[in-house]
Amino acid sequence: MKYCFGIDIGGTTVKIGLFSASSEMLARWEIPTRKDNSPDGLLRDVKTALEGCLTERGISRTDVLGVGITAPGPVTEDGILHGTVNIGWGDVALGKEAEKILQLGTVRIGNDARVAALGEYAYGAGKGSKSMLMITLGTGVGGGVIQDGHILTGFHGVAGEIGHMTVDPYETLPCSCGKKGCLEQYASATGMVRVAKKFLADWSGETLLRQCEITAKTLWDCAKAGDCAANEITDFVCHRLGIALANAAYLVDTELFVIGGGVSAAGDFLLEKIERVYRANVFPHSRDKKFTLAKLGNDAGIQGAAALLLKP
Ligand SMILES: [Zn+2]
Repeated sequence: MKYCFGIDIGGTTVKIGLFSASSEMLARWEIPTRKDNSPDGLLRDVKTALEGCLTERGISRTDVLGVGITAPGPVTEDGILHGTVNIGWGDVALGKEAEKILQLGTVRIGNDARVAALGEYAYGAGKGSKSMLMITLGTGVGGGVIQDGHILTGFHGVAGEIGHMTVDPYETLPCSCGKKGCLEQYASATGMVRVAKKFLADWSGETLLRQCEITAKTLWDCAKAGDCAANEITDFVCHRLGIALANAAYLVDTELFVIGGGVSAAGDFLLEKIERVYRANVFPHSRDKKFTLAKLGNDAGIQGAAALLLKP
C-alpha cells in the first residue's frame, strides 16, 4: 500500500493528515506552528511528526509517495512562497527546503486558500464539477479557482486572491495587506464586526445587537431572527460580496461558486443574500450560477494538499 501526507501550515497550528493512495484519510492531527524567521525549524518539527507516524504504523519510507503542503501566502509555479505575513518568513523556496529536510519523496506546495479549493473540488462541494471558484469567509477572505482539476496560480501566484479585490476605492482605512478598500475589510469575520459597530454608532432604532457581544455569528443569528439592523448590515456586506463575485465571473466563469470558512455556517440565508446581488450584476443568461456551501470544513486544507499529489 502507498501513502502520502497532506500538511496545512496555519498561523497557530500545522494540521497533518495521512492518506492512502486512494485518497482515504487514515489519520489527522496537529502540532503547534513554530515561528522563526525561516521555515527550517517548523519543517524539522513536521519531519519528527511524520516519522513518528510512520514508525507507529510500521510504514516504510519507500511507501510514501510524497508530501503536499499549503502555506499562508502567494505561491508561484516554481514553488516559491512569497512572504507569509502571519508567520514571519520572507520569500522562500519552501518546496525545495521541505524536500531536503523531510526526505519523503516529492513535495508539492500551494497557497492555503487555493489548495483548500482544490480539496473541495476533489472531495467536497465541487466533486463532479468541471470548474469552481471558492471563497473562504474566515478571519480573512481567501479564494481559489480550479479549472479541470488544476489550481489557477497566475504569474505572481495571486490568481484567485478575491479577498484583496478592491470593492471600495474610497475607503480610508487600510487592509492587513496595506491596500485600502479590499473585500476582506468588509466580508471577513473581523470585517463584519467592524462594519456592524460602525453602522450601530449611527443607528437609533431598537436592535438585538445591543444585547449581545457582536461577532460574525451573533450578527448572522440576529439577522436570521429578523432583526432590522442586522439585516441592513448583512445586506451591505453581501452587496460587496455579490459585486466581487459578479466581477470575478467575468474573468473566470466557473460552473460553481463555493462559499466556505467559519461565516458560511450562516448557511442558505447567507447564500441567498449573495446570490440576489450576484444575479443583478451579470448577463441574464449567466444568472443561473450554482452557489453552494463548502463541505470539508477545517480539513479542506489537508485534503487539498493530498490532492496536489494524488490528482483524483
Ligand atoms: Zn487587502
